[in-house]
Formats: sequence, C-alpha cells, structure tokens
Amino acid sequence: MHEASRREFLWTTLGGIAAAGMAPRVFAQAAPTPPIVATRLTDRVTVFGGDGGNVAIVAGPDGLLMIDGGYANRAADLARSVAGVDPRRVQVLYNTHYHFDHTGSNESLGAAHIRIVAHENAAKRLRIRFDDPAMGRTMDPLKKEGWPSETFTQGGKATFGRDSLEYTHTPLAHTDGDAYFMLPDSNVLHAGDLLWAGRYPVIDYTVGGSLARMAESLGEMDQRIEDGTKIIPGHGPASVTRVDMRGIREMWTTINDRLERHAKQGDPIEAVIAAAPTREFDATLNVKNPESFLKQAYGGVLARRK
Ligand SMILES: [Zn+2]
Repeated sequence: MHEASRREFLWTTLGGIAAAGMAPRVFAQAAPTPPIVATRLTDRVTVFGGDGGNVAIVAGPDGLLMIDGGYANRAADLARSVAGVDPRRVQVLYNTHYHFDHTGSNESLGAAHIRIVAHENAAKRLRIRFDDPAMGRTMDPLKKEGWPSETFTQGGKATFGRDSLEYTHTPLAHTDGDAYFMLPDSNVLHAGDLLWAGRYPVIDYTVGGSLARMAESLGEMDQRIEDGTKIIPGHGPASVTRVDMRGIREMWTTINDRLERHAKQGDPIEAVIAAAPTREFDATLNVKNPESFLKQAYGGVLARRK
C-alpha cells in the first residue's frame, strides 16, 4: 500500500482519533494514531509511551501505582496496554502536572474511585477553563470525577509494596504545578515534563514556566540520583541516563543564556529567530524549524523580566 493511502486507511479505520499533542490542531489529522509501547525498566517498573506523555506503572503486591495517564482519547488503549503487562487494577494515580497529555486517565480512574494525587496548583488548573497563549489554546477543565482527590504543596512520601515513592514540587518550571517522582528502591526517576529527550521542550510560560527554571530543575534532580538511575522523561524514549540529562541541561542553559542576551537588548522575537540561537542543536535533534520552541522559550524569558 502507498504511504499516503495507508495513512488514509489507518485514519478511516481509527475513526478520526488523532493525537493532537501540543502541536496545533490543524496538523493533528495528518498523523495516524501511534501505538502505545510498553518498555520494562526494572522488575517492577514499566513505561508506556508512544502517544502523550510517558506513563510509569509500578507493580505492588496487590495492584498498580500509575504516574501520569496520557491522553483522554487514548485512556482505554493505555488501560489495555497496561492490562497486557499486568492485569491487576490501578490503586493510585499521580499527576506530574496538569497538561492534558498527562492527565487523560484522571476521569476514567477517578470515576472508578481511584485515588488521584497532584500538586495543589495542578489540581487547581484541572478545575478551571483558562486561555493559555503560550500553548496557543484554551485549557478546559476535567469533569469533577477527574479532579485530584489529594494534593500536596512541597511534596511527600509513600510506600507501595517494596518501593518507596518520593515526590517533590519544583516551583515555576515547566508549569506552576510540576513534581518529579523518585523510586529509590527501583533506582528510577520520573521527571515528567521537566525533562524532554530528543526534542525541544514545551514551556508553558502563561502559568509561569521558563527554560531557565526547567534547566535548574534538572540540576536539582541530578543532585538526588546516581549514575545508574533510570530517568523517565515526560516525552522521548522510555528512559535516559544521568549523562543524557546533564547534556540536555547544558543545551537548555546555553540556549537560555543567548535568549537572555536578546531580551536585554530588547530584541523582538523576529530578530531572535533570525539570529538562530539554537543552530548547533537543531541538527542533533533533527529540528528543521525551531520557531515554535523559540517563541515559547523567549516568551518565558520575557515573562520573567516583567
Ligand atoms: Zn507538559
């Protein structure tokens, strides 16, 4: 089958369910729905990726702990993929932040009276509708059953079978309600959207996000892990290494320094784009047009100077 007609076929077969991601909706219909892929990181931790943010499942003695839940329109697919690896029920869901490509299982699990835990700012945003120019869209609230049932301010600790879980809020980084999740007994860290591997990050500066603070958060996490820790990024491969994360931090810091200089000179975004401040990284990441990233990153720089 020709690539074009194959796409057409998949598109028709899948009934028009496309993953919009953070990309503008107009592009969403061009891509077929990608499969959800399970990657076993350790005896107890499996990552489900391929569409939406990376989801971690931790196997306990009586059921599963879930960190993030992908897109709402893939929640049933995700549940099937998870059941294929471990058929026991999810007992608790943690949200790394409020974005819809991470909180898509909240409504289905919440309706089944599963505990949902999130930072208080993430929980607040899941209850309201607001315009988000940084993301180029209006953020819609979840139905009440999807609202987190428990919130935290700084962070917290929990025990789940043989794993302890430590979750920590890092203020105003990718959003205003991010947390990263450490599983020291499994030597795994779920960084949520504080870390993006193999692509430029999304920066939700409308709610206080910035590349500078995202880079700082990577440094904060680096202090709490070891060389062998498996790090799950919000987007990208199932896991990356500490060395990878250090490289990403360096790249983000370099780009941010350049953007800060432009901001100091009062340069408009057009001048920033023309100066190509990401030039040497575009090739590595296979990015042909970094414009949307630069707009978000520069928007974040300007917002912080106000
Ligand atoms: Zn996000």
